[in-house]
Amino acid sequence: MKTLILDEPFNLSLADTPFPAAPQAGEALVKVHKVGICGSDLHAFKGEQNFFEYPRILGHELAVEIVQLGSPLAELSVGDICAVNPYLNDGTCIACRRGKTNCCQNMRVLGVHQDGGMREHFLVPATHLYKADLSVDELAQVEMLAVGAHAVRRARLDKQENVLVIGAGPIGLGTAAFARLEAKKVAMLDVSETRLEFVRQLGLAEAINTRTDVISELKERFSGDLPTTVFDATGSAGSMVNAVTYCAHGGQLILVGHTKNELPFHNPSIHARELSLHCSRNATEEDFKRVITTLEQKQIDVEAWITHRASPEELVKNFASWTKPETGVLKGLLEF
Ligand SMILES: [Zn+2]
Repeated sequence: MKTLILDEPFNLSLADTPFPAAPQAGEALVKVHKVGICGSDLHAFKGEQNFFEYPRILGHELAVEIVQLGSPLAELSVGDICAVNPYLNDGTCIACRRGKTNCCQNMRVLGVHQDGGMREHFLVPATHLYKADLSVDELAQVEMLAVGAHAVRRARLDKQENVLVIGAGPIGLGTAAFARLEAKKVAMLDVSETRLEFVRQLGLAEAINTRTDVISELKERFSGDLPTTVFDATGSAGSMVNAVTYCAHGGQLILVGHTKNELPFHNPSIHARELSLHCSRNATEEDFKRVITTLEQKQIDVEAWITHRASPEELVKNFASWTKPETGVLKGLLEF
């Protein structure tokens, strides 16, 4: 069967690998239909991903079909089309015991810490499959949206709140899409006019360019106030630190992206605001199910977010170009 292997940075190859063994109890053998390509996959390709070992089979944004179950399950059957929760938690650590499975102390992420879904078939823990009445294109975007939905759940927004999302990549767009369902008004900030134009076309949020007088632009859109909740989905240390200046007094900053750098926050700025600072990591089963319901109810439409598609053979040739901003990739899909 076809398997894409990232042998080392800048070297993605297509191999013919043996079909997986039969699933054990609790496992499911799945056929992979679509794989969303994430920013972290592109970082791994460029050798910029922390704690990453090569060779590795990438792929954690997955739309799959159940081919065989290792043990019978009430909620899943052969032929079901499912999203995959790639966050394999140990179920026993302090975070898991408190329901925070998204930040398990011993987290193993499919496609990052162990081999993922860029292959025709593989074995997945059945507890990490969520059946959905969605297209396979939509299903391949559930994980990405769940990261945004989780960040919004962390924020506990109310209908009186104005929200700013910094970074109009797929995670930022997902965050804005869910914030919009719960807040009064949402604005997005980005350096790329192409991405901001996409935000305007979707009617997702107010779109502000980083090169403008951002504070004035925010106050103009939010009746003279700054946003009470700011999400940073850039992964840029500079942006994350500067985001404080956009937060209203008494507000909160949610860091959805992450960086390997230190974040030197200016204490007078965060103290004067009595700023609440949260990190938001991955997503839980609750977030995945929320995303599936929201998509099933057509409250969010993500078909337009897919800008590029490739077969396994094409991806080997095109992956390097997908890492370049000028290619204009918002969401790329690998199609088996
Ligand atoms: Zn755990």
